[in-house]
Amino acid sequence: MLGSMMSTSLTVPSLLDHASQYHAQTDVISVNTQGGVERHTWRDIWVNARRLAAALQALGLKPGSRISTIAWNNHRHLAIYFGVTGAGMVCHTINPRLFPEQLTYIINHAEDAVLCVDETFLPLVANIQDSLTTVKKIVLLGDSMPSNTHGLDLLLFDELLSAHSEDEAWADIDENQPSSLCYTSGTTGNPKGVLYSHRSTVLHSLGGNQPDGLNISARDCVLPVVPMFHVNAWGVPYVAAATGCKLVLPGPGLDGESLVKLIDSENVTLALGVPTIWQGLLAALKSTGSKALSLQRTIVGGSALAPSMIQTFRDEYDVELIHAWGMTETSPLGTINTLLEKHVSLENDVQAHVRLAQGRPPYGVELRLVDDAGGVLPNDGSTQGQLQIRGHWIVDTYFNADDSALSQDGWFDTGDIATLDSDGYLVIRDRAKDIIKSGGEWISTVELENIAVSHASVQAAAVIAARHDKWDERPVLIVVLKEGESIDEASILATFDNKVASWQVPDKVIAVDAMPIGGTGKILKNRLRESYQDVLMNEESE
Ligand code: AMP
Repeated sequence: MLGSMMSTSLTVPSLLDHASQYHAQTDVISVNTQGGVERHTWRDIWVNARRLAAALQALGLKPGSRISTIAWNNHRHLAIYFGVTGAGMVCHTINPRLFPEQLTYIINHAEDAVLCVDETFLPLVANIQDSLTTVKKIVLLGDSMPSNTHGLDLLLFDELLSAHSEDEAWADIDENQPSSLCYTSGTTGNPKGVLYSHRSTVLHSLGGNQPDGLNISARDCVLPVVPMFHVNAWGVPYVAAATGCKLVLPGPGLDGESLVKLIDSENVTLALGVPTIWQGLLAALKSTGSKALSLQRTIVGGSALAPSMIQTFRDEYDVELIHAWGMTETSPLGTINTLLEKHVSLENDVQAHVRLAQGRPPYGVELRLVDDAGGVLPNDGSTQGQLQIRGHWIVDTYFNADDSALSQDGWFDTGDIATLDSDGYLVIRDRAKDIIKSGGEWISTVELENIAVSHASVQAAAVIAARHDKWDERPVLIVVLKEGESIDEASILATFDNKVASWQVPDKVIAVDAMPIGGTGKILKNRLRESYQDVLMNEESE
């Protein structure tokens, strides 16, 4: 016997239909490549998305075709998110910060048929054009051709749309069809594609936007600083359409001052991004004197959070900073840190400690820890193990891969080393490939880095495993010093006193001019390891 309720497909364009039907006049603000602010509504986005879907079909493209973007967060990119998926095609967002060889690899591997590009990125596309094997059309995201097309044969986005009507229907879509494609950053080996489905995307939007999740409502004004080319801006565009909130797309202006201006002029209530963005924002709030009065919450993820940030946002700006964890393979929402009833009355500093964890899983995903042999470890808040995840919006098989990405019993191994407690609070201790194994004991590089950046002369810190004759591996601290500072190893190492066990203190401090940074803004520790992994060999060390 089956239930006897309506059964309609969970599809991405249905989210935009909702916004257009019930939030037609709500603003979607977008900053263009020249820094100008453009105002649209959800209804406008829907009209453009419908026209785009029709235009793509008229170009002869078939369902499942990959349409890729190299673009900032802006209103045309938003229309592409829904228009491409509404045509039954796949929206492949590409990170422009990747190296040219990675870009070429990704575009050819995805077999992208059409490339939609912001003017900023034309030189980048011109540079790799000759090595692209599948791209048939390049579309410039704009309303007029630029004076310099960099030798590219371009179609114009707005012209393409103007030839079509919004009355043409969406394609007929099964919820298990693919809707979008993102590649992992691939710090080791080639990037791998994660092919999200309509169903996984809608369930991620619903499951991730519970009150203990993103908690976005129609009364919010949301600023996704996280790029639309990084795991679909953490799914915010879909949640925004589903809730009909006001959306502010910041374009290329991701510096602190531009963000402060947008927050204040548009009355942003929630902003989302990686920790480095908020460091820039805090500096700009200080220099401009803005109190970011409208801002109530910021959601921070992508890499570990500096402990002081929670207090600074709370004490100086009355902003609740919410820590979240996820990855490309998890759509990305894996955990988000909201408090339980028992935490509400805790002292501020005890509460801040709870908030520093990466948070709890929402309904729809499950987490567990395993040891090297695959044995399940206890959720006791102190046993460290390899973090595995499963659920409605977790990858099963990488795009065009032969083998499943899962363990035999159906879990995805995240590559993170973590602890879990009995309430499900996750603390990421390290990446499995970064953690230091010193004489059989584990040392968390994240923990040491957090302590190192609290030293007054240290601007950035990375701890790596250096090879060691006696202990196999020992921690070495690499730092970028603040301007005008010179290295004082004893003083920096003294920062670790009474904060970690003495055997966890790094053996050496090395100052560098800059950290090697990858396409997603994270420090490339494998590069640091290549350069410094032998600095302790043949040295006497405790
Ligand atoms: P990506 O797929 O590029 O988003 O990278 C995912 C990885 O980033 C995760 O496996 C974690 O190692 C790291 N990561 C994401 N969020 C956090 C966080 N809040 N704290 C620490 N590491 C994080």
